[in-house]
Amino acid sequence: AKSDGKAKWALFDPERNAREVARFTLSATMPAAIERGEFYLDYQPLVRLSDGQLVGAEALVRWRHPEFGLLAPDRFIGLAEETGQIVPLGRWVLREACRQARLWQDRFGQRAPFISVNLAVRQSRDPSLVADVAKVLAETGVEPGRLQLELTESAVMGTADEPLDALRALSAMGVRIAIDDFGTGYSNLAYLRHLPVHELKIAGSFVEGLRASAADGSHVVDARIVGTLVSLAHALGLGVTAEGVETEAQARRLDDIGCDSGQGWYFARPGPPDQITRLLS
Ligand code: C2E
Ligand code: CA
Ligand code: CA
Repeated sequence: AKSDGKAKWALFDPERNAREVARFTLSATMPAAIERGEFYLDYQPLVRLSDGQLVGAEALVRWRHPEFGLLAPDRFIGLAEETGQIVPLGRWVLREACRQARLWQDRFGQRAPFISVNLAVRQSRDPSLVADVAKVLAETGVEPGRLQLELTESAVMGTADEPLDALRALSAMGVRIAIDDFGTGYSNLAYLRHLPVHELKIAGSFVEGLRASAADGSHVVDARIVGTLVSLAHALGLGVTAEGVETEAQARRLDDIGCDSGQGWYFARPGPPDQITRLLS
């Protein structure tokens, strides 16, 4: 019994405990935080590599928390998935992004960027997804073709048929579907052929290796992988965007490889909607 007591004390880790308390607080305050307007969206440009034209903008959520300060999505998206709060939060993100897209649509017409919105796995399985999207598009007046939804491989390659049906319905409405972080998850290429997908977004981890040279030769392998993913996407009739483009050399290299678009700090960091507006003015 004595050693049991010791073991318990040894298990108490104050840092871990503080993290648990923070997680609990975040999860408990999330619903009210949506009401209070503590979330906001930054937008990061998606740029056509051949001519540097802005073609789209990815909406990235942030939480201005009264106690913890500015929180990046890594701090709360996973948590929101676990608790199911990702569904109301995701609805808010979609509506807010479309509200902004409508402003750009009115101001820039055909030159307006499409808006790209991340969908968590749980949202992709939500039975009201298609109705929610249709409603938001109707209410905000955004053309369906100006909305892109980004899903991870695990969200689209699921075993159940429902998400696939939802994607088909969205695609039939004219909404674009992109696979996010492509190459990092479980990909069934045979299955990919039958998916209503329009765009592959190549994960930044592959782009990182596209520097001039590395001592271990890894740059050659990475360039081949990216080249293969681009060929694959084009063979399937899909567009390709490279994520995490940080240098001009990478942007050039990607353009040479035939990649369609890029996103990353080399073009612009995620920022307020004004950044996009300025790029178009
Ligand atoms: P993601 O969808 O892969 O988004 C791209 C992330 O890469 C963003 O991080 C962006 O700030 C970062 N990034 C952009 N350019 C560069 C670059 O050149 N170099 C590097 N190192 N990083 C770059 P962020 O904003 O922290 O978002 C992290 C993740 O959180 C996102 O990854 C996405 O999975 C998730 N997320 C963000 N917003 C939402 C949302 O509204 N809903 C859902 N479900 N997930 C979201
Ligand atoms: Ca994304
Ligand atoms: Ca991504």
